[in-house]
Amino acid sequence: MIKIQNLVKNYGSIEAVKNISFTVEEGEIVGFLGPNGAGKSTVMNILTGYLSSTSGEVEVNGVNVLENPLDAKRQIGYLPEQPPLYPDMTVKEYLGFVFDLKGCKLPKKEHLAEICEVVKIKDVYNRVIRNLSKGYRQRVGIAQALIGNPKVVIFDEPTVGLDPKQIIEIRSLIRELGRHHTVILSTHILPEVQAVCDRIVIINRGRIVANEKTTEISRAVQGAGKMSVKICGPEKDVYSALRAIPGVQSVTVLGAQDADSITYYVESERGLDIRKVLFRTVAQKGWTMIGMEAMGVNLEDIFLSVVEDPADATAKKKNRKGGNV
Ligand code: ADP
Repeated sequence: MIKIQNLVKNYGSIEAVKNISFTVEEGEIVGFLGPNGAGKSTVMNILTGYLSSTSGEVEVNGVNVLENPLDAKRQIGYLPEQPPLYPDMTVKEYLGFVFDLKGCKLPKKEHLAEICEVVKIKDVYNRVIRNLSKGYRQRVGIAQALIGNPKVVIFDEPTVGLDPKQIIEIRSLIRELGRHHTVILSTHILPEVQAVCDRIVIINRGRIVANEKTTEISRAVQGAGKMSVKICGPEKDVYSALRAIPGVQSVTVLGAQDADSITYYVESERGLDIRKVLFRTVAQKGWTMIGMEAMGVNLEDIFLSVVEDPADATAKKKNRKGGNV
């Protein structure tokens, strides 16, 4: 559906995009991630026909964006970070206006009614946009992107500024849209990508540094397996025994949550499943294991590991108290 091949963009002497290639299949929801200045906007602007490339090929639904920018634009619906709304218009007036502006040939009333049904804005159709909540305004922004039934929909930071309930609703709407459209989601909120996207493309300094299925990215770029184990036994001896298990790289004592058990955080070599040997070791020593849990891989860690120098990433992790990148 989207094919980007050997894309290069220089701004004078600045190489913003350095020979990028990736494809997005029909019906996929792809998260496009990267730190500030990585080149995300540049790629999006080339993809949507707003910027020319220095070299390379970009195709949307078989249409070459550089050769036929108008045709290509018709294949794409775009929701910028600031939706281009006219606050003094009603939703009806605004969507009608965008419909005419896009030169849409579909039956107007039916098409707009269908979109309003999908994005759930029927009940505010005659309201002035200025008076709508941010969540509803975002839905109206999504509605304008869907006019003309584009094959590809691109969202730029679609949940910034929304409250938690609105965030959940917009994310589920994006997932829903993914059933009939190819979706690119550009965001810096990593849990959002995990919640919504089938695949993650990470760009850093103009190059792609990861391009994996969401379910596989942890395995692909994560170094070690992480387990949290809760054991009843003398702390020092337990620590030494865990540390001595082949393949274990580090053991951290997280402390006691109750009277007689202590939780340890065990990191092991990539791809090594240490659960059985962990269990046997504890049993052989006569201690009791009352909990063992694989730690969920944190996309934030993955992101840091692929976009930063290892030394910087370690320093950041130490300083970090949670939250999003
Ligand atoms: P992102 O969207 O990931 O923050 P951008 O695509 O905006 O990254 O920018 C990539 C690089 O290109 C940055 O180094 C940025 O400073 C530079 N850049 C972007 N737009 C221009 C421009 N119009 N002129 C010169 N340099 C630019």
